[in-house]
Amino acid sequence: MRGVTDATLPTAAAAPNTVERAAHAFATVEQWMSSDPMAGLLGLFDQATAAPPADWTSWLHLNEELPEWLEAVFQAADSVPRGLTPDQVEVLRRTLSVERTAAAHFNFRTRDGSGYRERSQAVDGAFSQQTRARVLALTTELGLVEARPPRFASYEKTLVLGGGYRSPLLRARLAARFRATGVDLGEISFLGSPRFLIEDPPEHVATAEYAPEATDEFGLMIGAVRAEFGLAASEVTFLCGCPSADQRCPKWLAQGAEGADETPPAYTHERQATLIESDGRVIGSVLSASTGRPRTVRTPRTPSACGRAAPSPG
Ligand SMILES: [Zn+2]
Repeated sequence: MRGVTDATLPTAAAAPNTVERAAHAFATVEQWMSSDPMAGLLGLFDQATAAPPADWTSWLHLNEELPEWLEAVFQAADSVPRGLTPDQVEVLRRTLSVERTAAAHFNFRTRDGSGYRERSQAVDGAFSQQTRARVLALTTELGLVEARPPRFASYEKTLVLGGGYRSPLLRARLAARFRATGVDLGEISFLGSPRFLIEDPPEHVATAEYAPEATDEFGLMIGAVRAEFGLAASEVTFLCGCPSADQRCPKWLAQGAEGADETPPAYTHERQATLIESDGRVIGSVLSASTGRPRTVRTPRTPSACGRAAPSPG
């Protein structure tokens, strides 16, 4: 039985060098990709779509890109890029194949390849009850459903991702629980975004309990930290150096992209709010990158329309 548990995954030293870390990552991915539950999951779906398409990036999700050197791995069966072993190339090919199958059967957010939906707006997979139960069982075996305890007692950095509705709260809660059990999380970064709250179905109904002031995902993360860590965030500063969010950021990475001209200026800046313990120690920050999806951002509710502050105070 090639299942996936912490006990069956390859072990690695706590602080190996880069080459050892890369080898460990390949070994871990290989074990996971070739496990019985992964084979079972892929077996549920038609894999005819896994044949290499003419355009090797056509199956990617909206705005996703792959590094150029991967194309040789993808297209040429006997090509081995410099620095990789033939076995590692095989792992990459297998992974790309699984990605294509997943994109064909499990992408419910950009199904038609153009519009982007938030998770709450994703279309339904229309699987039978039996298929649903099987997918849930296999993905649980693959470690994709339930949280696992951290491998180490101490970390230099911890990232807590954002999300919609109650996700920021639940993710911050999980980190706080790990910390309460004695795990040293190091510098904690809570990653928000300039995504404004969704109106259909209304997100503020779910977020009012922990982030009543929030107008975007950055605000949700600040509220989640306050609720779960008992920490107030400092005043918001602009990492990009701008004095406010009123003008388009001159450092915005997506400013040349399609749809950039229609993107509201408030989406284009990088923000930070520092988190300080009662003893004055800085433990981390809440961060928001500028948007990377200029084509799909929705028009924010303006202060004059809703009576609230702009999303980027400072
Ligand atoms: Zn800026």
